[in-house]
Amino acid sequence: MKHFLRVMTAVIVTIFCLAGCQNNGTKAKYIFLFIGDGMGATHVATTESYLSYKAGKLGGERLLMSQFPCYGMAETHSANMNVTCSSAAGTAIACGEKANNGTVGINKDSVDIESIAYTLKDEGYKIGIMSTVPINHATPASFYAHNVSRSDYYGISGDIIESGFDFFGGAGFIDYKGKNGDLEPTDAVLERNGYTVSYGAEEFRRESAGKDKAIFCQASNRNESADNYVSDGTVEADASMAEMLELALEYLGDEEPFFIMGEGGAIDWSAHDNRTMSMIENVLDLDGAVKVAYEFYKKHPKQTLIVITADHETGGLTLGCGSSKINWETLENQWIESGKKNILDYDANRQMNKSCSIGWTTGSHTGGAVPVYAIGAGAERFNGRMDNTDIKGKILGE
Ligand SMILES: [Zn+2]
Repeated sequence: MKHFLRVMTAVIVTIFCLAGCQNNGTKAKYIFLFIGDGMGATHVATTESYLSYKAGKLGGERLLMSQFPCYGMAETHSANMNVTCSSAAGTAIACGEKANNGTVGINKDSVDIESIAYTLKDEGYKIGIMSTVPINHATPASFYAHNVSRSDYYGISGDIIESGFDFFGGAGFIDYKGKNGDLEPTDAVLERNGYTVSYGAEEFRRESAGKDKAIFCQASNRNESADNYVSDGTVEADASMAEMLELALEYLGDEEPFFIMGEGGAIDWSAHDNRTMSMIENVLDLDGAVKVAYEFYKKHPKQTLIVITADHETGGLTLGCGSSKINWETLENQWIESGKKNILDYDANRQMNKSCSIGWTTGSHTGGAVPVYAIGAGAERFNGRMDNTDIKGKILGE
């Protein structure tokens, strides 16, 4: 009898596993891929701990993304380093092949490789690429550009023309007039090549309606290099990531299939600086955009796939550092009193984190696996352990 039960249990577990992990080959009509740049599992846990504190609890509050039914972990090493950079990881996710740190859209042999955005465009999908940081930064660039250097921002911006993708959104462009500031402004180049470039939501709605290809830039980046972008809290007039995604959805519509990649890029920027509260604000900003995608999913549940992952962890964040009690009160009070700006200098910020029992071990990236959350058509493929190069094929149902 004991043996029989053991065999039956094994059979049932196998059936469940096959049902939960099968690759059934379906491809969603509407695909949202979110990348929290630098968002390790602890960034999610720390944000949820803060939300729990706000609710008067020790834990239990959840972001929307971490409530999605399918969950896995993705390995992140690059082709030449244990610890990846955003362009190598972005390329691995977008193109399904490992790349060297510092390169964009090319493999370790310097051969151009095809991102999922190009694959889907060829199949008739509309393509939207958006980020909370500049449009020509590493992660968004991995989906449309090919370059030996992620720092060739002006050259990367030019690859937007080659892509022909329908929608781009973000905080303007780094090296807007080239490294020396003496080249044709990026928006003028793009306008000359068929893109309508708008600044701010109101202008975007007015100018891009009915146009073929459109680019949304944050209002604060008008006629400016994106170098004025601040990662320590968005400029008041600027659109949140949720608002940016709403603009993308209004523009792309739901008649044609679409693929939208949305990057929460400032999570990484604030984690590099070990700024706990602005990191949390940026994770919440990303989760706000996930909510917009989720509302869309509820209208088209059988045709929509939402995947959220990260390119790598940034900062070596630990929830607890010395004391078992996180002093959220002090962290939050300082953040609110500063007008939600990172006003503490490096040492004072370090001291603040430590005294509140939030640990940061580095100002760089780390090499651990990152979370993958999914819901919708084909979401079960994201259960369990994977490599970041598996994500493209899993989305495509290959
Ligand atoms: Zn980074």
